[in-house]
Amino acid sequence: MAKVIGIDTGGTLTKLAYFNKAGELKLELFPSNEMELVKEWLQQHPDVDEIGLTGGRTEQLRDVLKTMKSIQYIVEFEATLKGVRYLLEREGHQIESSIITNIGTGTSIHYMDGNSHSRVSGTGMGGGTLVGLSTLLTGVRDFNEIKTLAATGNRSDIDLLVQDIYLGMDMPLDGKLTASNFGKVGITEEINYNKNDVLATVQGLVGEVITTLSIQVAEERKADYIVYIGSTLTSNEHLKKVISHYTILKKHTPIFLKDCGFSGAVGALLNIIEYSHSH
Ligand code: ATP
Ligand code: MG
Repeated sequence: MAKVIGIDTGGTLTKLAYFNKAGELKLELFPSNEMELVKEWLQQHPDVDEIGLTGGRTEQLRDVLKTMKSIQYIVEFEATLKGVRYLLEREGHQIESSIITNIGTGTSIHYMDGNSHSRVSGTGMGGGTLVGLSTLLTGVRDFNEIKTLAATGNRSDIDLLVQDIYLGMDMPLDGKLTASNFGKVGITEEINYNKNDVLATVQGLVGEVITTLSIQVAEERKADYIVYIGSTLTSNEHLKKVISHYTILKKHTPIFLKDCGFSGAVGALLNIIEYSHSH
């Protein structure tokens, strides 16, 4: 068992990362509103003696853990970028400069250039918005159910496309672009919509707003690649399709990481490993 672990405690999820005896990266997930579960996990793993910690719920987790272990705090954005660099290399990507878009509960956007990085933008549109709007509009609150149902939904009766506005005319933009997310609803008589269609359209809204912002920043910084991370993308093929379609249309290259939700936890882990080696 590992002696050191990394924990990223976010607005929704608490992620934990460590290397096992065989040197393999192991990952665990807990809801951030059940911090006791992290304490229980630590009680079941008594040989962990150092924790690298990051994320907005750090103080709450410290309260639950008390002074159980030695804790090394790292600022969230530092941890995220450290983890992203490691996971990019591990997953075989060789990129020097890139936009990093972290779709957590909310979304933050970073510019990475070699070993330096900075936060360049962000939006309140994120995984929390996906779950919140889905709940309000359809009553489906469970993330796994949302993404499964959304994958079978069809947005064409709800979103208004450019080609729906420019009927039979030359279009100033690609006709398949969304002119107005949910825009068809307000200009038709229909009031009953299929749940899966609504969920697909919510994913479309969230994905397109985040992608539009990411592309703008990528153009400003002259970055070709956009690396999309955050647990909102976990096994969420439908959202990844929305994002990659829009990113490619705008002539940028999207990259998705396999362990997309764990950059912060991995960064916190690497940070404490480095710290322990240097002390
Ligand atoms: P932030 O970084 O904004 O503080 P966070 O670190 O908790 O938040 P992530 O864990 O990256 O954010 O992503 C949270 C989002 O991932 C949720 O809003 C939801 O859309 C999605 N999600 C993925 N798996 C789950 C799950 N098991 N339970 C709830 N939400 C999940
Ligand atoms: Mg986070």
